[in-house]
Amino acid sequence: MLRVIAIDGPAASGKSSTAGLVAKRLGWAHLDSGALYRALTLAVLDNIGEGGRGKGDAWSGSRIVAVAERLPVRLVLVSEEFRPEVAGVDVEGAIRSERVTRHVSALAAIPEVRTWVNAQQRRAVEGVKVGGGAEGVVVDGRDIGTVVFPEAPLKIFLTATPDERARRRLSQRGEAVDGEVVRRESQALAARDAADSNRRIAPLKPAPDAVLLDTTALTLEQQVARVVELARGLFPG
Ligand code: C5P
Repeated sequence: MLRVIAIDGPAASGKSSTAGLVAKRLGWAHLDSGALYRALTLAVLDNIGEGGRGKGDAWSGSRIVAVAERLPVRLVLVSEEFRPEVAGVDVEGAIRSERVTRHVSALAAIPEVRTWVNAQQRRAVEGVKVGGGAEGVVVDGRDIGTVVFPEAPLKIFLTATPDERARRRLSQRGEAVDGEVVRRESQALAARDAADSNRRIAPLKPAPDAVLLDTTALTLEQQVARVVELARGLFPG
């Protein structure tokens, strides 16, 4: 049995925080697939530029994959946490910038990019199995249960209202959580969700057998406890 828990959901639904804590409690590794898309976006912005409309094929899939392989962009397992690296430098902090956030969905819509990222994820999970240590991997993203690990025995799809997600994102950043700011953040999240949900390839959607968890009224502890309980019921210890 594949020892993978897939946690998908829209931006700021608490996927990564939940996945990280679930992994810790189970003694499993954690892989945030969004971090790899973000690391690749950072590398592309720094090495190719903004690309996009009116600039020919600057952001072609093959060119992006070549940059990813050359630098390289990769995931490195440090204390059961897969961390993104670009050219040997840990970029976990740099990939959370507004600039990367603004461009990541465009890059993630390119088929060759997704094929490359998916291969890295499968290799990372394979490495954990081969290397012993952690007994499984909690992977979070948008298409983990539908495309990357459709055979994962436990798939969770997290949701929360856009306003609640905006509030969480703002307080995470230590910013004031007042009406107008929440509205603007909520709109930015909705735009990214729309881009991720409407793309032709691997759109954001729950797998048919995913457990839907609306976290709007749940604390982080409650959502983590729920996933751990489901995992303990499914994976023999
Ligand atoms: O999870 P996070 O918000 O950091 O992901 C950043 C972006 O990466 C998403 O908006 C989406 O465009 C892309 N992504 C994806 N598939 C995944 C994970 C992330 O397309 N499995």
